Amino acid sequence: MPESDGRVNILGLTRPAFETLSGGGRSRALGRVYRRAFAEGRFEPGTEPIGREKAAALAARVALRLPAVERVVEEEGPFGTTAKALLRLDDGQRVECVRVPVARRVPEPGPATLCVSTQVGCRMGCVFCESGRQGFVRDLRPEEIVGQYAAARLTLGWDIGQIVFMGMGEPLDNFDGLAGALAVLLDESGPAFSQDDLTVCTIGPPEGIARLKGLGLKRLNLSVSLNAPDDALRGELMPATRGAGLETLAAALALYPQRRNFALAVNYCLMPGLNDGEGAPEEISAFLRAAAPSGRAVVNLIPYNPGPSPIGRAPTEAEIESFTRRLEAAGARVKLRTPRGRGLMAACGQLGRAG
Ligand code: SF4
Repeated sequence: MPESDGRVNILGLTRPAFETLSGGGRSRALGRVYRRAFAEGRFEPGTEPIGREKAAALAARVALRLPAVERVVEEEGPFGTTAKALLRLDDGQRVECVRVPVARRVPEPGPATLCVSTQVGCRMGCVFCESGRQGFVRDLRPEEIVGQYAAARLTLGWDIGQIVFMGMGEPLDNFDGLAGALAVLLDESGPAFSQDDLTVCTIGPPEGIARLKGLGLKRLNLSVSLNAPDDALRGELMPATRGAGLETLAAALALYPQRRNFALAVNYCLMPGLNDGEGAPEEISAFLRAAAPSGRAVVNLIPYNPGPSPIGRAPTEAEIESFTRRLEAAGARVKLRTPRGRGLMAACGQLGRAG
């Protein structure tokens, strides 16, 4: 998609697409121009032996443009610093991305996870989510999704080892943007992520899951937000799921590639008094069995993080412990997700446009 000055942003191009735009076939020199853009933040076709005319033509057609970092807020936690960056896009819209430290046994700095946005706002309207409350503005283009990673690495100097599509927006509601960004992030001449280091986090539109499967990325991680044990409550908390019940969702997930070491992550935001009632663990467990019949599934239990417009309260330690035990007794594997970034509104469902 052309930028405002008519040039295409290289951050949205795979190497083959870049080479096609250059008007020539694959060449080492072009590969170096492409690689340097992602590794060093420099787009300088004139420094490589590709011919003066070709270099000029490329510079006229392609540019490297990073989103502007407007603000960064940080919070120290047990695993390191969580940082939220507010980024301004070409049209003045703003998105956020979050650097989340990875829990390690040895408390030494290492690559972090970057949580990126896929839309400005979100049309899914989940009642516990800040982005949902703000409404939908527009989809992000591939270069704007990759641009969050590029700004994190090149402008902010963050060491990023994994990317999770879990910021503002429903990734599968912007399928083309997501697919384009995945292709660039996986490009061996560019960011060169492995599929195992990328996770798509979705509320699970079944047709979107089928399209994701159609990309043929067998090692891409998938994480689904469940948040309710039955259709009625899920429809209340996440209105966009009303058209497709849990049975349909589980059937779509069961068809997603279940490689031997694949574990379907099922996110469950624990809201005491709302979604932890009698029978909930058994219903969740039945969903896991249906969604991952030949593979493994794990519940990521996330304590609810009340934002500025809370719909409930945060669970106590005892409530978290009790719900974990009940889930395990019902046969579910459970991981407790330690909240990181609560104070700076960087926890799940709390990214917004204003920061
Ligand atoms: S939880 Fe995700 S899908 Fe739901 S409104 Fe928020 S950003 Fe959108």
